[in-house]
Amino acid sequence: MDQQLDYAPCGYFSISDKGIIQSANQTFATMLSYERDELLGKHIELFMSMTNKLFFHTYFYPYMQLYGHVSEIYLSLQSSSHHDIPMLLNGVRQTREGETFMDCVVVEMRRRLEHEKDILATKQRLEHLVQETNETNRKLELLHQEYEAKQRELLSINLQLEALALTDPLTGMKNRRYFNESLLAHINKFHRSGDPFSIALIDIDRFKSINDTYGHPVGDLVLTELAELLHASSRETDVTARFGGEEFVMLLAGADAINAVHIAERIRTVIQMTPMGNLHITASIGVATMTSEDSDDKLISKADQALYRSKTSGRNRVSHVMDLDSNK
Ligand code: GH3
Ligand code: MG
Ligand code: MG
Repeated sequence: MDQQLDYAPCGYFSISDKGIIQSANQTFATMLSYERDELLGKHIELFMSMTNKLFFHTYFYPYMQLYGHVSEIYLSLQSSSHHDIPMLLNGVRQTREGETFMDCVVVEMRRRLEHEKDILATKQRLEHLVQETNETNRKLELLHQEYEAKQRELLSINLQLEALALTDPLTGMKNRRYFNESLLAHINKFHRSGDPFSIALIDIDRFKSINDTYGHPVGDLVLTELAELLHASSRETDVTARFGGEEFVMLLAGADAINAVHIAERIRTVIQMTPMGNLHITASIGVATMTSEDSDDKLISKADQALYRSKTSGRNRVSHVMDLDSNK
């Protein structure tokens, strides 16, 4: 065997079609830690574990028979110290002087296997990391959902609180605070567009005597029923609220002085005509219509003056602040 092949950087051996080693280069002998002479004339399978032998039989021989060559077979051969040495094998069937040989080259696979092990370990670590990341993301998503649910809950509680802050607890109608906010909004609108509106203060006549005669709970019932009546008698654009005690207020959107007095008169009549349980009540009403000189307080004070006039001139009647001026 020539020098170059003998010390080539891969193992070389040639076996007969029965598997007997006919020749081997020095590299191959060194790989297996044998003297070359110890290999020659031996069956190649002597250097294989049982599983490798099986593999050799089911793959190497049939392929060689069928295709005349094999490539990249991965197998292990045993060294003189009985260590498995992983190798990659290429082989080709050749005929020389009428005899068949199977010439094989092998390269050790140790490094590559270690590389593969490293890669596998890295891959496993990565998979583990991906799993952990997914898990964390899922937890984060759950936390996010929880947070959003809490946020919605808070929003709904806030809306409820806001509604409560603007509602009169006895009658369930809007309270004075709500009325004041609406009044300011209408005043702003009035300044922008000049849309007329009026307010009517409605005060139950001699309500104290109802309480005194029938008791406070009956008084409460009357207040609640009157609230419903006022609500039913108002238009959607109007604002009806409890102003305090036995006093109610209505903001009559779009109503000028004449319209407002008309509406107030209708309401006064409805109150007079509608029994509250067995009781008949009346109410006095004071009306004021928004002018460009009025502020919210001034408008309310004007309506209050008109209400006072209704009370002092006999109750169960409607007065507009305009009439006060003309009577002065
Ligand atoms: P006027 O015709 O001058 O308005 O006489 P009035 O008795 O209606 O007026 P007054 O201001 O003297 O009395 C109002 C009464 O309303 C006294 C108060 O106890 C009663 N009142 C105020 N708030 C409530 C309430 O929430 N429930 C009940 N039952 N009574 C109330
Ligand atoms: Mg009163
Ligand atoms: Mg009263």
